[in-house]
Amino acid sequence: MTWSNWLVPPFPTSVFFVLGFLTLFQVSYSWLTTLLHERKVKLSDDACKTWYGLLYMVVFVFALQSLVRGQSNSWMFMNFELIAVTFCAYFLNIRIPIYFLFPSVLIFMVFNGSFTHWQSWGHALTLMAFFWILNLVSVKLHDWPYKVFAYLAVTIPFGGLLWLWMKWKFALSLTTFAQEWLYLTIFDVLMYSYTAMLSRDSRTKSHLVRLASHDSLTGILNYETYRQDIHTLFSRSQSEQRPLAMMMFDIDHFKLVNDTYGHAAGDQVLRALVQTVARIIHEADPKIKFYRTGGEEFVLILPEYSLTQCNQLAQRIFAAVDQMTITLDAKQKLKIAISMGISCVSEADQTSLDFYNRVDHNLYYSKKNGRHQITSN
Ligand code: GH3
Ligand code: MG
Ligand code: MG
Repeated sequence: MTWSNWLVPPFPTSVFFVLGFLTLFQVSYSWLTTLLHERKVKLSDDACKTWYGLLYMVVFVFALQSLVRGQSNSWMFMNFELIAVTFCAYFLNIRIPIYFLFPSVLIFMVFNGSFTHWQSWGHALTLMAFFWILNLVSVKLHDWPYKVFAYLAVTIPFGGLLWLWMKWKFALSLTTFAQEWLYLTIFDVLMYSYTAMLSRDSRTKSHLVRLASHDSLTGILNYETYRQDIHTLFSRSQSEQRPLAMMMFDIDHFKLVNDTYGHAAGDQVLRALVQTVARIIHEADPKIKFYRTGGEEFVLILPEYSLTQCNQLAQRIFAAVDQMTITLDAKQKLKIAISMGISCVSEADQTSLDFYNRVDHNLYYSKKNGRHQITSN
């Protein structure tokens, strides 16, 4: 296949070009965020989307325009460039301040050699207004069920206006003007539908990822995550000779709660307990990890905690649970108690399982010794 033998008509090629532009962004952005998460880089997904999206758009627009700049057909790629601008303003929701947008447009005009054309100035100002209004519509009408109409009400007339400037500048025929405007409108619709599909996919993916690592009843981390974390944290504690503590607790006579008030009440108790403990952890040290490892059994991993520090926090949690009064849906009031086992990594621990077993044994001892107590060693 050669340059001249490419027999696909321009319009379907353009459609796939637009879809490719969007897909490449989605795939590369997803790859980038996974990489940043793996490397534990402290950059929020939103910030990453803004900066990467901006870079992607700028490279795309300038790369395309470099193929035709200064020529009599330098309007050729304008629809693609407008699609990139629309994507950033509406779908990525990137807010570019005017003191950044204006110089960027000026740089583009210098790059394109259109600085001296009055129509290009009209085009530039229209483009900035378009970006600003589209961005506003995206933010303000984010939750409006008919937002697609607002999107079209901005993109279609602005598309026409932007092409009108080009019609004047390049003396385009009315047919070319109408055809380009129509193509742009089709691309706008296509982009809206395709982005909706992609974001639905990525929402499903993040939902599944969350489901795999979190407990669906209480929202805290689950056993699978505990298994992965303890392995990493134990190895790190051993290699760097840093303290690491673990706390395990289990509700006393929980079966009785279920048998007396029903399973739904039992679930409510589990959620209330998690809320109380999570609040204390949040106040004390957000680095502490909290897992539901079994039905009514919970584990906390405390990096950098000595046994004494872990004991102090255990007392706080123990006291807070003692003070809890849970009001069930049926208005009955209920009190619960827990038993605990805690320990710290010791030099004798060969694997994380040795460490875990000691904590588990301490919890078992609390249960056997009359429940409602803390055992540590
Ligand atoms: P102990 O003081 O020895 O811990 O007695 P217990 O009754 O709390 O302990 P046991 O392990 O015998 O019972 C645990 C109960 O937890 C049994 C099970 O029905 C209940 N359970 C496990 N998961 C859930 C859940 O998700 N929701 C509810 N409501 N109950 C659960
Ligand atoms: Mg129990
Ligand atoms: Mg149990």
